[in-house]
Amino acid sequence: MPLQTRAILTGHTRGLGAAIAQLLLEQGADVLAIARTRNGGLATRHTGKLHEVELDLADPVKLDEWLSGEALSQFVSDAQRVLLVNNAGMLAPVGDLANQAPAAIARAVSVNVAAPLMLAAAVVQATGQTADTRIVHVSSGAARNAYPGWSIYCATKAALDHHARAVALDGHRALRICSVAPGVVDTDMQAEIRDLDLAHFPMRERFDALKRDGQLATPEQSARKVVDYLLSEAFGDTPTVDVRDLA
Ligand code: NAP
Repeated sequence: MPLQTRAILTGHTRGLGAAIAQLLLEQGADVLAIARTRNGGLATRHTGKLHEVELDLADPVKLDEWLSGEALSQFVSDAQRVLLVNNAGMLAPVGDLANQAPAAIARAVSVNVAAPLMLAAAVVQATGQTADTRIVHVSSGAARNAYPGWSIYCATKAALDHHARAVALDGHRALRICSVAPGVVDTDMQAEIRDLDLAHFPMRERFDALKRDGQLATPEQSARKVVDYLLSEAFGDTPTVDVRDLA
């Protein structure tokens, strides 16, 4: 990565986000990573390059407080390229409307929608019109296809897609944005899916079979596709992409 690159990434402690963080660090980017916990192994391997922030993205008030401080603007201040990877996400609540607790809905909407949209605005405000700024929302096939029992997850991921489409129309000279579906990836979230009650998620057997038949992408494979695309000249040519459609 020839340019002085600063990346802000959410959900770097496991799964896809940990693999994306690893790739960005290996390519020389400084990474400011936000999650509720820390990634000790990554921090040890990349001392001075990984800057961890412990924050619960389900709490928009806490996120707003953090964004009101200096940490983000200081992190991006002398960067030539600024990347935002909105990766943190959650599946719950799963089930029909009768099984969705209001607080669980609010939590999912905060993590999956409010936090990525707040971070997107804050990053652009911190970088202004100068740095090459690129935003990835980690979306899902569920944004584009409806699944029974996943109304909250489908709706929140579709919100990211539509946010990217609208932001792309704003005509910000230095900004590219894309909502990227990462494929079906062998992470804790897939384990959570295989643990779901069939009564709440009737399509569960399809995901059981993907795991059984070795059809899941590894986090490293999926992260490689996301990062290669993020750093490519083509990034942002379309506001939504599925990595399975990329060459
Ligand atoms: P995962 O294994 O469950 O990891 C989720 C990451 O998000 C963790 O690092 C977690 O960190 C962070 N996170 C979750 N809730 C948070 C909160 N309240 N505040 C701050 N950080 C939080 O998930 P994954 O499978 O890697 O998924 C990554 C992204 O890909 C998600 O947006 C997901 O919707 C999307 N996706 C995944 C798949 C798949 O097959 N796995 C398919 C399509 C899309 P802490 O627990 O340390 O906070």
